[in-house]
Amino acid sequence: MSAFDIERVRAQFPMLSGREGARKLVFLDSAATSLKPRVVIDAEADFYARDYGTVRRGIYGLSQAATARYEGVREKARSFLNAREVNEIVFTRGTTEAINLVANSFGRSVLKSGDEVLVTAMEHHANIVSWQLVCKAVGATLSVLPIDDSGQLVLAELDRLLSPRVKVVALAHMSNVLGTVNPVAEVARRAHAAGAVVLVDGAQSAAHMPVDVQELGCDFFVCSSHKMCGPSGVGILYGRHEVLEAMPPWQGGGDMIVTVGFDETTFEAPPYRFEAGTPPIAQVIGFGAALDFLDGIGREHLAAHEHGLTDYATGRLHEVPGLRVFGSAPGKGGIIAFVIDGMAPYDIGTLLDEQGIAVRVGHHCAQPLMKRLGVASTVRASFGVYSTRADIDALVEGLHKVRGILS
Ligand code: PLP
Repeated sequence: MSAFDIERVRAQFPMLSGREGARKLVFLDSAATSLKPRVVIDAEADFYARDYGTVRRGIYGLSQAATARYEGVREKARSFLNAREVNEIVFTRGTTEAINLVANSFGRSVLKSGDEVLVTAMEHHANIVSWQLVCKAVGATLSVLPIDDSGQLVLAELDRLLSPRVKVVALAHMSNVLGTVNPVAEVARRAHAAGAVVLVDGAQSAAHMPVDVQELGCDFFVCSSHKMCGPSGVGILYGRHEVLEAMPPWQGGGDMIVTVGFDETTFEAPPYRFEAGTPPIAQVIGFGAALDFLDGIGREHLAAHEHGLTDYATGRLHEVPGLRVFGSAPGKGGIIAFVIDGMAPYDIGTLLDEQGIAVRVGHHCAQPLMKRLGVASTVRASFGVYSTRADIDALVEGLHKVRGILS
């Protein structure tokens, strides 16, 4: 697919063609999880039906072929993120597990009492709680880079906060509430100058814009397949070779060792050191198909499509009386969180659902950010590769109906 042909893209998503007799789905929750194209569903199903075998354990042909495909996806992931080396790609269960891996392996071996982990005011709980648990265990603390009223990081505060005590800076590439795309390369440059390593939570960016970990200059980048048109249960931890190499294992088990004795065990090099146990093989194969699918469209086309939708939606949503959007950073991604005066987000979400429109309501796993915004919850509409202006029109029309019912 060379140019972005939305109808051709949508035709590849069975969920969008609707079940017989069922209302067409207006899916506006891609920030939570994405729909799956037929190529991903088929890749996983065909693998189970025809080619199934375990990886890195079998001498027989099926296992060796499965291993080759599994490792082939690792190379696709390297290329997708433009990592330098294929062994910088660790498969995890997703973003949450990837952050926990770094916090427990790198964090526990590096952080000491009195040290700090710097996060930002817009982080998802995964990028707060994982660090908090480790900080509590070792006597370190979390510090927080604030945001301004437009939903952008207050970079003027960064150098003051980057004291020699800060060993890790962990921040979202794109906020899952505000849509803000953070200036990660700039933060990484300043954090490195202060002696900290940088973890970028790419859960919201990886499927929506080109990502080049070398350009970002980060030490770790994490993302989830299920938000990238791929299967659930798999994700990526990218770790810079030198950093991964020095990290101890965080889970023990099969396939991450060289030798095991009751007194001592020696461990594999990365990435295998961090992939204990049988991995989600079919899901990784499906993820490979998703990476090919996204690359086939071209993430620059995808980003342009979603920016166009965001601008259109921002304009149209303001037609709804009393509607307030959170986050107005220039170049924000396809995520729009909002409230309507006098109406509970849960009521709005439920009444939209009755019209076949799927949005997210709640705190979006970002309670500290909700506190900063002065609300307990919001409605959130978010876009994906298959979203259209017609989806946004349906949302706006749906909100007018909701107002009619609730006011
Ligand atoms: N970080 C961000 C910014 C997210 O939006 C999400 C999911 O919503 C996560 C982390 C957690 O991702 P997962 O549940 O796939 O591990």
